[in-house]
Amino acid sequence: METRPFRQFVVKVHSRCNLACDYCYVYELADQGWRSRPRAMSAEVVAHTAERVARHVRAHGLSEVEVVLHGGEPLLAGRAALVGLVERFRAVVPVPVRFSVQTNGTLLDRDFLRLFAELDVGVGVSVDGGREAHDRHRVRPGGTGSWAAARDALRLLADEFRAVYRGVLCVVDVNNDPHEVYRSLLDFSPPVVDFLLPHGNWTVPPPRRVAGSPVTPYAEWLIPLFDRWYDEPVTRVRLFEELLNVVLGGRSRLEGVGLTPTAQVVVETDGAISASDILASSEPAAASTGLHVSRDDFDRALALPEVVASASGRAGLSATCRACSIVAACGGGLRAHRFRAGSGFDHPSVYCPDLFCLITHVRDRAATDLAALA
Ligand code: SF4
Repeated sequence: METRPFRQFVVKVHSRCNLACDYCYVYELADQGWRSRPRAMSAEVVAHTAERVARHVRAHGLSEVEVVLHGGEPLLAGRAALVGLVERFRAVVPVPVRFSVQTNGTLLDRDFLRLFAELDVGVGVSVDGGREAHDRHRVRPGGTGSWAAARDALRLLADEFRAVYRGVLCVVDVNNDPHEVYRSLLDFSPPVVDFLLPHGNWTVPPPRRVAGSPVTPYAEWLIPLFDRWYDEPVTRVRLFEELLNVVLGGRSRLEGVGLTPTAQVVVETDGAISASDILASSEPAAASTGLHVSRDDFDRALALPEVVASASGRAGLSATCRACSIVAACGGGLRAHRFRAGSGFDHPSVYCPDLFCLITHVRDRAATDLAALA
């Protein structure tokens, strides 16, 4: 079994959000843990986290690490807290720390962007396409849309702060026209596009995914975009890049694609360590570990069942996945998507038919082009 140290630390600097997106895995699914957590990460928890990261770096001889400032909405933490965190980490961790922040964009004004440019913190914005697609889900608590605010932030990023622009994150809604969504995203000139499947599982299936049904609405949405991108890759699309990587026998750098073990660990605002905040969307107990940055090294998280299962590759998957012809490329999808109440995670992904259809399409296109070279 391959045990790999963590290289990406997701730090939840603020546990609340100023939006009320209807698909949000933090607030709308099973995990209600945020209710009992402090709103903001304290300076003490920040200091413990930085020290634990430094110990992990020394223990494993890492040459650099990545810290993702996350939430809730991380900008709610405020400028002073974000500056304090970045400076603390850079003072304590003995190797370069690459910072990024994942935001809904609504608070991302010129002042914040100047700050991130000064601190060299990369910025990713969640946006689901044009106004209609975005505002269908990404609404404020009163129900009004947030697209205009996200658009303004993205224009600033694209026009004035390109050096810190990391890309856009789009949650797939198969009710939207995929080409229209992609075109709207390209309007923001993103260096990278991330498409994310909405979270769900066998007990609470994602929209339009009937558990056990062979229909493939997500593959049908993504395949035309893959073909368009493959023929004309005007920007990077991480999901498609990684799918090409794995069908050609390489390793994925994206959780939920291929058999590469996870390199990510999460620290909540109260200092609790978890293997994945997405897991809590299936079963809150699954993400609760009892580990805390004030007393536990991250090495202890390497022994958590979900981390061990991830490190076990094919052996950590269900019998159905182990027997699957494309398991090396698929990896059973995200662990959270394998959950079924009463029987846990020993299942294929609830997206199995979509994943099979999408991955075999990517494989077949690559194979056709490779054959033409022979
Ligand atoms: S396509 Fe389905 S059965 Fe095959 S590895 Fe992926 S989730 Fe498992």
